[in-house]
Amino acid sequence: MTPAWRARQARRAGRVWQIGRAGRMGFTAIALLVGARVFQTSVATQAPNPGAPANFVTIQAPVVALTHVRVIDGTGAPARADQTVVIRDGAIAELGSASSVAVPPGATVVDLTGKSVIPGLVMLHEHLYYTTGPGVYGQLGASFSRLYLAGGVTTMRTGGNVNGIMDINLSRRIAAGELVGPAIDATAPYVNGPSTFLQMHVVNTPDDARQHVAYWAAQGSTSLKAYMQISRAALKAAIDEGHRRGMKTTGHLCSVTFGEAADLGIDNLEHGFFPATDFVADKQPDICPGQARGQQMIAALDENGAPFKALVQKLVDRHVALTSTLTVFETFTRGRPLPPGLDVLTPPLRDSFMRAHERVEQNQQSVYAALFAKDMRMERAFVRAGGTLVAGTDPTGSGGVVPGYADQRQIELLVEAGFTPVEAIRIGTLNGATFLGRDTRVGSIAQGKQADLVVVAGDPSASIADIRRVETVFRNGVGYDRAKLVESVRGQVGIW
Ligand SMILES: [Zn+2]
Repeated sequence: MTPAWRARQARRAGRVWQIGRAGRMGFTAIALLVGARVFQTSVATQAPNPGAPANFVTIQAPVVALTHVRVIDGTGAPARADQTVVIRDGAIAELGSASSVAVPPGATVVDLTGKSVIPGLVMLHEHLYYTTGPGVYGQLGASFSRLYLAGGVTTMRTGGNVNGIMDINLSRRIAAGELVGPAIDATAPYVNGPSTFLQMHVVNTPDDARQHVAYWAAQGSTSLKAYMQISRAALKAAIDEGHRRGMKTTGHLCSVTFGEAADLGIDNLEHGFFPATDFVADKQPDICPGQARGQQMIAALDENGAPFKALVQKLVDRHVALTSTLTVFETFTRGRPLPPGLDVLTPPLRDSFMRAHERVEQNQQSVYAALFAKDMRMERAFVRAGGTLVAGTDPTGSGGVVPGYADQRQIELLVEAGFTPVEAIRIGTLNGATFLGRDTRVGSIAQGKQADLVVVAGDPSASIADIRRVETVFRNGVGYDRAKLVESVRGQVGIW
């Protein structure tokens, strides 16, 4: 027995132990003698996959008929009572009043008396990471993708990331049916200038920006997100390089004003009007004056005055969509209810958020006291002027914006902002799908469209809080159990 042979045996033993653990099964001595390629195949075919869609399915059949259901179709039209929705091969085959649509023979019938269906939510400022410590962002895509689906989100765009690979891999594996979750439009890592963020790449020049976009497009990213320290020149290069490749750019900006970004051809701006630095009098080009200064100016701005109206008109004229993310700002605002979903977090993350919440509650000087309601009014003004409002949640800040739960909360907050429930649902469904160019397939409930539907108890067109009462989420015609999805991650969100 040579030392080399013993080392080889030890390596093999180690490999078998790892495989045995991963596969929760023993391997025979014969397996030891075969090559590494066979081991890899064994792992791929035999390891349990706790994220497999099949683990969460409640309704799956060639033909499913949802009967006696209230349909809120996502177009902003009034709800229609007592409808039949026939799902065949993942698509909506028929849709109409219970008296006009016959249930096909052999269909699996689900009586939804007293319940409603809305389109699967299409949310555009989501993340697969979360603030896990001061300035540190943990990659939580494995649990988040289940929570998003549980909350009724069937399509989402990530609003930037500090990793890149996780968004792309989750998007691909969900699309391939290997993991459960929504369809993901995966952004590249933030396009940003020099900053203090430890996990962010630095884009200094237009050339850097083009290379960043080209690299991440080649990896599989399909959208771009610019950030607070980007220069106008680098932003312009990223937007143009993205457009050349069919990718849209959004931005959480500061160094570049909303008006400048609109002139540069940006497609979308994030966070309502909270980050706009257009009204900072001594704003230096390409320099972020501090998010707080921008917000003080917004808080002091005359929302009926000519400067704000001119900015709104520019965004409308240039077809720049605006993403409402009221959920994250609600966590910064005193006197607001605790956000939903905190119970799924790990205890340390829950405690950390509760301490942040306590500080918010004690801060009597905070700009958000006035700004939260003011931004709601400004978002309404933008829509009245003909602007396209889309929705997202932004699970960042000091925590507390919990995927899925926050998506429902965001729709509720749009209603608080003054939209009707069916208008708010449209903002969170068809508007998002239209922005992503996916509206021929998803975003509303119509014959021929993909069967992405959320079954909720009650009537969210009358009482928007019912949007929280999700029971089943259909994606591609397969019904997933909300409770199973949530229970599979409870207490773990913060670890994976
Ligand atoms: Zn964000």
